[in-house]
Amino acid sequence: MKERYQAKAIEEKWQRIWAEGRSFHVREDVTRPKYYVLEMFPYPSGRIHMGHVRNYSIGDVVARYKRMRGFNVLHPMGWDAFGLPAENAAIERGVHPQAWTEENIVYMKTQLKRMGLSYDWDREVATCQPEYYRWNQWIFLQFFKKGLAYKKNSFVNWCPSCETVLANEQVVDGACWRCDSAVVQKELEQWFFRITDYAEELLSDLDKLEGWPDKVLIMQRNWIGKSTGAEIDFPLVGHEGALRIFTTRPDTIFGATFVSLAVEHPLAQTLARGTPQQQAVEDFIARIRKISQARRDEEETEKEGVFTGAYCRNPFTGENIPIYLANFVLMEYGTGAVMAVPAHDQRDFEFAKKYRLPIRLVIQPAGHDLTTETLSEAYVDEGVMVESGAFSGLPNTEGKEKIAAFAESKGWGKREIRYRLRDWGVSRQRYWGTPIPIIYCDGCGTVPVPEAQLPVELPKDVPFTGKGGSPLRESKLFSQVACPKCGGAARRETDTMDTFVDSSWYFLRYTSARLPTAPFDVDHAQYWMAVDQYIGGVEHAVLHLLYARFFTKALRDLGLAKVDEPFTNLLTQGMVSKETYRCEDHGWLFPGDLVGSEKEGWRCAECGRPVTIGRVEKMSKSKRNIIDPEDLIGRYGADTARLFTLFAAPPEKDLEWSDQGVEGAYRFLSRLWRLIYQQRNLWAQVPPANGATEQSAELRDLRRTIHRTIKKVSDDIDGRFHFNTAIAAIMELFNGLSAAAQGDSQSRAATDVIKEGTETIIILLAPFVPHIANELWELLGHDDRLDQVSWPTYSEVAIEEEKLLIVVQVNGKVRGKITVPADVTQEYIETNALADPRVIGFIDGKSVRRVVYVPRRLVNVVVEG
Ligand SMILES: [Zn+2]
Ligand SMILES: [Zn+2]
Ligand SMILES: [Zn+2]
Repeated sequence: MKERYQAKAIEEKWQRIWAEGRSFHVREDVTRPKYYVLEMFPYPSGRIHMGHVRNYSIGDVVARYKRMRGFNVLHPMGWDAFGLPAENAAIERGVHPQAWTEENIVYMKTQLKRMGLSYDWDREVATCQPEYYRWNQWIFLQFFKKGLAYKKNSFVNWCPSCETVLANEQVVDGACWRCDSAVVQKELEQWFFRITDYAEELLSDLDKLEGWPDKVLIMQRNWIGKSTGAEIDFPLVGHEGALRIFTTRPDTIFGATFVSLAVEHPLAQTLARGTPQQQAVEDFIARIRKISQARRDEEETEKEGVFTGAYCRNPFTGENIPIYLANFVLMEYGTGAVMAVPAHDQRDFEFAKKYRLPIRLVIQPAGHDLTTETLSEAYVDEGVMVESGAFSGLPNTEGKEKIAAFAESKGWGKREIRYRLRDWGVSRQRYWGTPIPIIYCDGCGTVPVPEAQLPVELPKDVPFTGKGGSPLRESKLFSQVACPKCGGAARRETDTMDTFVDSSWYFLRYTSARLPTAPFDVDHAQYWMAVDQYIGGVEHAVLHLLYARFFTKALRDLGLAKVDEPFTNLLTQGMVSKETYRCEDHGWLFPGDLVGSEKEGWRCAECGRPVTIGRVEKMSKSKRNIIDPEDLIGRYGADTARLFTLFAAPPEKDLEWSDQGVEGAYRFLSRLWRLIYQQRNLWAQVPPANGATEQSAELRDLRRTIHRTIKKVSDDIDGRFHFNTAIAAIMELFNGLSAAAQGDSQSRAATDVIKEGTETIIILLAPFVPHIANELWELLGHDDRLDQVSWPTYSEVAIEEEKLLIVVQVNGKVRGKITVPADVTQEYIETNALADPRVIGFIDGKSVRRVVYVPRRLVNVVVEG
């Protein structure tokens, strides 16, 4: 054992002990309260980055803390292992996606183990393994049986030059990421999950999620996008039938001066046929259909349209109004047809101005006198209905319901609730994903793969060219199959599932990760679920969390999961950021590519030019403002890396990288090590203080600080995760103890309090810096392992503020008594003594010559006369 803190040796030792002892393996135990803490599992991209270090350090503190609190803690880890980068590596470098992925998992697992994270590795899952994805297929089949999985036509991004479907993230500014050709929309038949069946429950259950950040709840609400309104028919003029529109503002129907259709609306082309507008309409449809719906829906997208040459009748005004096609109306939402009310809808307003369409004001705000001539933007707020026939004079909020009811009574339409949420398209024309377990037979149609034949495994004989449609189609072995029903020649579905399917139920799989007969054991899942604390990036605030919630509810309805919601509490950690460096000639520079110093200024190592220090931004490969955790851990150790990331900012806030911060964390651990190493022989001779023996006031103060620190650190960790202030309190206590230990009062009494304090610090630090804490515990001669030590409780007596009774004399005679807190200054006591009403009577009008203070006992005021 060395006097100098040696992180590497200590960390390797404890990581070996934990691994060999399977220290964090858990089983269900009904005698103890359970706690399930989970960090979002990583994509095995190759190496961990600082964002991972932060995410997993936070989770590990929670896991270790809860264990010390007596909980039976489930803390698993796995790999979200299907996805595009593996397939790209195959196309670009000829490595098989499986080999690439497995290699990355091995490497990253080693990195995670070097961080000392307390995972139950026996429960590790990788979604690309057939043992896992067979249950994706099984769940798909259950969904199919219940009508929750179905097929329909839908648009995909298509690169005409690469002849391939592109994921949204492969479309950069409307062009193919690989060849830069313009991306078009292509219609394909694809599989969907009917998540919209759960829209109302997904929305209303958000109210139960009190442990989620408000911003995430808001994002989920907006994504589901419930709107209450009406569907109303606008009869066509000169054609059979009517246009059915959906509106959330029936109260403005008297102001509808035209109708806008989506270019995909079934009537879009037929209405223009034979009119002078036919050619213009066909050109417009062809042009707009190439643009993705998401892009058309963006606020910045310029509103444009074309007149169809046709009219319909506003049933409330009886007027004939023109029908336009508009780029911002989407078929996916509502009916693909909207009544346009330019005075009260901003998009319609811009559109009307551009195409010189009439604007009619029908809602007047109280106390105002808006006119269409002076209107510079749409008025979208509340007011009183005007120019609205029998409905004029009503508050518009009432009008909404009245107009909808009137339309319903006339048979013109009905009240309607709509959601922005669409069904979840799960088909991907990719190789590296879960094969969809469906077979197509000319005789029998769509046939599900029998459950006994699962898993449908990914074939190996697939060339990765990056061209064409689904790569699985290239494998004859895979696609040609006998029909399970009639035995005739049939073909397999060659699309694979969206990788979000994999992550929608992995938290359930962890509860019985090795079970070969079902996706998870119902009883085990019931014991562990819901996840008590989920931790991950806010970029997953919408899709992943929504899909996981949907799966949980759908699996509940299949009788498998027993909870309504998967994640009771959610923490979204902030980003890790750092300043950027740029050389005029060499562009963005890595921190390691600088020479010089902060004082002299930094220069480019390549050319010697001074570098421009840029803003503090999220660490990213493109800006090169990254720190490799491997370098950090190699240089200072995992405990320093953990302590720095936990101390530098509260978990939900952004963390700014600081070299000084890292060095500060390392210095603190080194000082702690040195003090205990030096004092250990002295301390071996005494038991830690327990408050039983009489102590001096100074030592009572020190004990009070120790117990107040226990209380503060417990409060800060529990529920609030204020790790930074908890660590600050521990550091402060250490400074106090260190000063006391190095002072001259090395009496037995002082030693026992200092020992109590130091052992407390080791226990309080155990969740944050587990390696050094365990080592120091052992160094102090404890037979038990720190991992098995309970979290300390504070002594109510010790934290109670001590009071002193001070006798106040005037010229040697007792004239009063005051009570003061023990830790106040002499000045405070003297001022209070002189201000005591009984004392004032004896000194009033006389001049005070001096004040004598006998510490903790007496103040004597000497006055003239
Ligand atoms: Zn391309
Ligand atoms: Zn058949
Ligand atoms: Zn340079």
